[in-house]
Amino acid sequence: MDNSFFLSLVVPCYNEEAAIPLFFIEADKICSLTNKQFEFIFIDDGSKDNTLNILRHLADQNSKIHYISFSRNFGKEAAILAGLQAAQGEYVVIMDVDGQDPPSLIPQMLEAVISGEYDCAGARRISRIGEPLVRSLFAKLFYKLMKKITSLDVVDGIRDFRLMNRKYLEAFLALHERNRFSKAVFPWIGFKTKWFEYKNIERVAGKTKWSFWKLFLYSLDGIIAFSSKPLAIASITGIILFFLAIFSVFIIIIRKLLWGDQVSGWASTVCIILFCSGIQLFTAGILGQYLAKIYTEVKQRPHFIIREAK
Ligand code: UDP
Ligand code: MG
Repeated sequence: MDNSFFLSLVVPCYNEEAAIPLFFIEADKICSLTNKQFEFIFIDDGSKDNTLNILRHLADQNSKIHYISFSRNFGKEAAILAGLQAAQGEYVVIMDVDGQDPPSLIPQMLEAVISGEYDCAGARRISRIGEPLVRSLFAKLFYKLMKKITSLDVVDGIRDFRLMNRKYLEAFLALHERNRFSKAVFPWIGFKTKWFEYKNIERVAGKTKWSFWKLFLYSLDGIIAFSSKPLAIASITGIILFFLAIFSVFIIIIRKLLWGDQVSGWASTVCIILFCSGIQLFTAGILGQYLAKIYTEVKQRPHFIIREAK
């Protein structure tokens, strides 16, 4: 591998025409201070605005800027993967373009990884100022749940902003699964990570691409990709209901022996039927989720399709 660059910056962009120039000026200034060779790899994730034109223009002007443009929107995880595959640097850092990942942390992160004591340096938000309260609450809950059911060290408040060495990068690239939930993939590959804490920063321009619903579905994806516990929950629910049913049969027999046959009770019967069919649909749904994931894995489709690159 020709590591002609010291540092590669992998930057996914989706409809970020306003943020790219601001990001480039700031990140370029900070990386220049290192006096080493560095490159930018911007990934245009099927943007519908002027993002691609801005990237073309920047790349024409500056040889350290590269871009990869997807044929459509493949999502941030695919964009990160494309960037990491293309990165030539000895060290690689993944960053959001919207200013929420402060480039000013890069020198400290680099220092930690260059020292050899750590293979990766990540950034962790310790506050969520500027974020809707419900979203923060769900995020906290999600991290707790994820940690419990995957037994992975999924740290609360981590972002995709991380700087890694080659060893760490190759381990990440060796995973070929389609469902790449990087917040859990990174702790799964292990190695030593140093965390840098900082207060949440609001976007410099543009809007977030994540609605609450999108985030919710994304978190379900993460759970299904990294844990088979939901399947166990489905089986245990089935077992509990089975014993409950046997218990009810005894109650009914005793009631008949003591008080004779009674016609009343249809309302409770309907409730039980509704309850049980609800549980059945719920557990069939869980099975379906895993099946759908297996389906996408076996199709072996590429993670992304490149329309243009430089
Ligand atoms: N992004 C992307 N593809 C997508 C959605 C987002 O490449 O489908 C990029 C986006 O341009 C930004 C980063 O991922 O650089 C984080 O997105 P965003 O700021 O919307 O997320 P948030 O910071 O609100 O979690
Ligand atoms: Mg953001």
